[in-house]
Amino acid sequence: MIIEKRFCLKCGEPIFGRSDKRFCDDSCRNAYNNVHRKETNDCVRKVYKQLRVNRRILEKIFANGVGKVRVPRVKLLQLGYNFLYHTHTMINYKGTQYEYCFDYGYMILDKDWVLVLKDVFEE
Ligand SMILES: [Zn+2]
Repeated sequence: MIIEKRFCLKCGEPIFGRSDKRFCDDSCRNAYNNVHRKETNDCVRKVYKQLRVNRRILEKIFANGVGKVRVPRVKLLQLGYNFLYHTHTMINYKGTQYEYCFDYGYMILDKDWVLVLKDVFEE
């Protein structure tokens, strides 16, 4: 018979009893789950916050121009845009790439410039 020693995921103490137990008691399980849930929420909140910042910047630029607006990437960076965060990417049949934050996005013109636009799907 093989006796597998298991340890509580929260406090690290050895676990006795059922073989599927992962915690020594309810308080350890609750404490572990609360921390895990908080970490998940913090991560989601952080990403969502940046996505909203990005969208707001695109929206403002779009509203200030007439239709599509050509802007240098550095201008977006100066306004607080983070190019790592977007909701989805589109590549059209010509191979042109679009990055979106919800309904606003930009088309990559070259390494220094983008064309800010709104919801290309309606066109
Ligand atoms: Zn424990």
